[in-house]
Amino acid sequence: MQHFPIFLSLNQRPVLLVGGGETAARKLRPLAKAGAQVLVVAETVGPEIVEAASAGRITWQARPFTPADVPGQVLVVSAAEDDDVDRVVSKAAKAAGVPVNVVDRPSLSTFIMPALVDRSPILVAISSGGAAPILARNIRAFLESHLPAQLGALARFADSFRDAVKAVVGDAAARRRFWERFFDGPVATKVLAGETTRAREDMIGLLNRSAALAEATENQAGRVTLIGAGPGDPDLLTFRALRALQQADVVVYDQLVGPEIVDYARRDAERVFVGKAKGAHSASQAEINALLAEHALAGRRVARLKGGDPMVFGRGGEEMAYLAERHITVDVVPGITAATGCLAAAGIPLTHRDHAPMTTFIAGHGKDGEPQVDWPALARQNQSLVIYMGASVAHSLRDRLIGAGMAADMPVAVIENGTRSNQKVVTGELATLPALIRGHGFTGPTLIVVGAVARFARVTRPALLPALLPALLPALLPNVPVPVPVPVQPMLAEAV
Ligand code: SAH
Repeated sequence: MQHFPIFLSLNQRPVLLVGGGETAARKLRPLAKAGAQVLVVAETVGPEIVEAASAGRITWQARPFTPADVPGQVLVVSAAEDDDVDRVVSKAAKAAGVPVNVVDRPSLSTFIMPALVDRSPILVAISSGGAAPILARNIRAFLESHLPAQLGALARFADSFRDAVKAVVGDAAARRRFWERFFDGPVATKVLAGETTRAREDMIGLLNRSAALAEATENQAGRVTLIGAGPGDPDLLTFRALRALQQADVVVYDQLVGPEIVDYARRDAERVFVGKAKGAHSASQAEINALLAEHALAGRRVARLKGGDPMVFGRGGEEMAYLAERHITVDVVPGITAATGCLAAAGIPLTHRDHAPMTTFIAGHGKDGEPQVDWPALARQNQSLVIYMGASVAHSLRDRLIGAGMAADMPVAVIENGTRSNQKVVTGELATLPALIRGHGFTGPTLIVVGAVARFARVTRPALLPALLPALLPALLPNVPVPVPVPVQPMLAEAV
């Protein structure tokens, strides 16, 4: 994060704006809206500033800038559109320790004026840190068209009932639930539709009912939501997953769930990592079950975040059964499982009509070692096999499938860290699957695809130099032995 975003109160506070042209007028508008006492210093100014000055909304002094203008200002903005003036203003402000923004000159500025979506008191500020202003503009246009015009009215409406709600619903957690229901409910819809009077009547009715319900709500039992977090890319979360995550008081997650996804939880939510961190104790399934139950029984809403889909090789069923025995409510939010996520990211059509009218998902590890599966059935043609947790047992997988009659040259694809920025995709043949995996030294979560569709995979291009180095070395350094790839340990990181 290159800039730290804050919302600064400028009401009745002095701000210096240097310059009087069109750019200065553009910068003046949000400053004036925020209630700043703006002093414009510029020898000439355009009509908008003349008008604001004669109406007494701002002060204009028709003279050149001097460093003595800076002390006492909360902010300085330079829109002089003159390099020398901008430089002098920036220097004076920096010397006086006053934050300065020079329009379109990040190197002279100590703060940015972001693009704004103004639904006061709701404000959205967008910045690309100068890296992609057009992208920031697109985001702003998107938000402008998606955020209801009456959003500010809704926030003010809620504010006007804050004290009343506090008096009726004493418990903080119950109050949060009240407001969550309110913003999703019919009263809010009326406010957004501009029907404020009717909304007020309804709100009073709602509060009267809530007074009676408050006690019951306060004692409401917690619940657990098993949430599929998808294969890694946060964009692959579902809307429902996002909502459940943001409502949770406690988030329990493991190593397949990246920090970008956990970050969607509320700031004040407790986060509990139960994965296998390097060198640290990893929670057993029994400990995880007990932890989920403990939080839920204490009345908290627990988000149990799992990689992919919670019910696909994720032991979601075991957690559900354990909680159900204790009469704890459990919901499941499905997620994009590694098979669909990674195959899409690698360009592999899982059930291509010409090659695979059928597909099977297999776990490389069963409860007691090798999975109990029908190998001859898996070895038949015209299907895709997607193997989870298979990298460390690639050797026996290969032997079993070939032993059961599958062609040794059946195409395979291996996807590591699918959908993430460090995704790697390699392809080969079944016979050499173990060597393919070993050779690339995969350490992240790895998915294996076996079948004709594997041929469609868009392979990650290796960096040119390392790939060519062994071939070039003898020519470059005739006396140095060519390095041989070192066999890597079976992958522990990917076991669940
Ligand atoms: N519930 C998860 C699977 C958990 S089992 C789901 O539905 O996806 C863990 C295995 O999933 C890993 O060993 C790996 O085989 C696979 N996996 C999960 N995320 C992956 C990713 N981003 N890339 C490749 N494989 C992944």
